Amino acid sequence: MRASQLLIPTLREVPADAEVVSHRLLVRAGFIRKAAAGVYNLLPLALRVVKKIEAIVREEMDRQGGQELVMPIIQPAELWQESGRWDVYGPELFRLQDRHGRDFCLGPTHEEIITDLVRNEVKSYRQLPLLLYQIQNKYRDERRPRFGLLRGREFIMKDLYSFDRDQAGLDISYQKMFFAYSRVFERCGLRFRPVEADSGAIGGKDTHEFIVFAEAGESTIVFCNHCDFAANVERAFSPPERFGVDEEPAPLREVATPGRRTVAEVTAFLGVDAKRLIKTLLFETEQGVVAALVRGDRDVNEIKLQKELGVLRCELADSATVEKVSGAGPGFAGPVGLAGVKIAADLEIMQMTNAVTGANKDDAHLVNVNPGRDFQPDLVADLRLVKAGDACPGCAHPLSATQGIEVGQIFKLGDKYSKVLGATYLDESGQARPVIMGCYGIGITRTMAAAVEQNHDENGIIWPFSIAPFHVVVVPVSDRDEKQMEMAQKTYASLLAAGIEVVLDDRPERPGVKFKDADLIGYPLRITVGKQAVRSGELEVKKRAGGETTFVPAEKIVSYVREIIEGALAG
Ligand code: ATP
Ligand code: MG
Repeated sequence: MRASQLLIPTLREVPADAEVVSHRLLVRAGFIRKAAAGVYNLLPLALRVVKKIEAIVREEMDRQGGQELVMPIIQPAELWQESGRWDVYGPELFRLQDRHGRDFCLGPTHEEIITDLVRNEVKSYRQLPLLLYQIQNKYRDERRPRFGLLRGREFIMKDLYSFDRDQAGLDISYQKMFFAYSRVFERCGLRFRPVEADSGAIGGKDTHEFIVFAEAGESTIVFCNHCDFAANVERAFSPPERFGVDEEPAPLREVATPGRRTVAEVTAFLGVDAKRLIKTLLFETEQGVVAALVRGDRDVNEIKLQKELGVLRCELADSATVEKVSGAGPGFAGPVGLAGVKIAADLEIMQMTNAVTGANKDDAHLVNVNPGRDFQPDLVADLRLVKAGDACPGCAHPLSATQGIEVGQIFKLGDKYSKVLGATYLDESGQARPVIMGCYGIGITRTMAAAVEQNHDENGIIWPFSIAPFHVVVVPVSDRDEKQMEMAQKTYASLLAAGIEVVLDDRPERPGVKFKDADLIGYPLRITVGKQAVRSGELEVKKRAGGETTFVPAEKIVSYVREIIEGALAG
């Protein structure tokens, strides 16, 4: 391709709304343009990257026996009503009506559609297992679309669904996808880690996320450097710590704590360890107000709390509610004598002796509070938000924490959808059984942005060879120098003839502009044709990653370049 004819609108200035590197660079390097919040045009360079990621994904899905199909983006409300998700999915679902006033939505995911397909077409155990997938646009009216392609409202996803006879079959399908996903992200040149995750709105039990390490990531993961434990903090468990268990319970007593509301203020004032405090946080749910108790040095994991309570809504109560419920201003609530409120205690709470809590009275706390004696929780569960330094559940070594981008997630759904939608098959003995399902998603456009987050420098993108839009750019230093242009054209033509993905930068631009653009766009290899090349017959080949330069005789350029590319693609 000739750069003079390609639509690659590079920009020198940084787009004002771009908060993260991948967003800035993909706009500046002419890959994407915004049409609306979270909705983007994928320009020719971006589409080439997308197609490469898709090709890798297809190969790995097909290798595991996946069959590609395409399902409709427009989905009838009836199916979502049947599964119960029409109401549960909430405002993220793009809803629309046809001219007859019938309800539809734009697919954010396809469990309903595919389960409907399978219930109609699969009748016998002989047709199972089945792995069906598609690669297509998905629609989610995200609360905060941002970060360019990382969190869009329209984005490309690969979604695969597995159908098995039983749980053992599902375990095998899940394993296959776990393996395939690892291969996909390795081949895309990403540094990532599969982590145990929370199953969220889709439901189901076992689930892993594939997290690409990046500061811009919205996922926090904790992992062990000693064993292979890794989990999203939303889900991570750390064994409860025992504190003060050997003490004799002392009599409950109220103490004055004027103006001391925060854990830091109370512990400093009373001269006690934060581990001795019971933090009481009030949440509003559709079941009323709930008091969640965690140790003073811990935080509540709201996702765990919500799950344990079985509620859809769970928000920190405002100060008016706190006052109404506890009879005191924020900072003085406690579980002792707290009436009309459900009390949910973290596992660690029940092991505490002689703890300190708010007295449900302004400027006062209670000391020598003993759970079980002085108050009885309605629910005891793991409610704590794990953080760096907490003990690994596998080997007890301290955990590390880092930020990452979720590029893929795999779920064991079991019979969640097949049961409600009635997708059954007849087993060997002619008995009807629900098909056992799994679902598996990869964000194609998010993976592209994640690759940029991990592979860039101050000058621009550094594409891994496997997903680069082109592998080589040939840059004649002066487009007015006939000899240079001739040599550049010849080099370009010979690479092209050899099937190498190459761009000739034949634009009438200053060399500085062409070099800057080459770095910004991130072609893995740049071949420069200047005066010296014309004189010596040797071409300068520069690697974008690392900047290493080599001089190669013109007649050897094709084999030299081919070897580098093949080596890189072989990994
Ligand atoms: P998140 O937690 O980031 O909102 P999710 O858990 O809702 O993602 P899934 O339903 O598991 O996402 O979708 C599968 C994959 O689709 C994700 O792993 C991610 O790569 C991609 N994806 C999800 N939402 C978006 C989005 N708004 N923009 C781009 N890609 C997305
Ligand atoms: Mg997810």
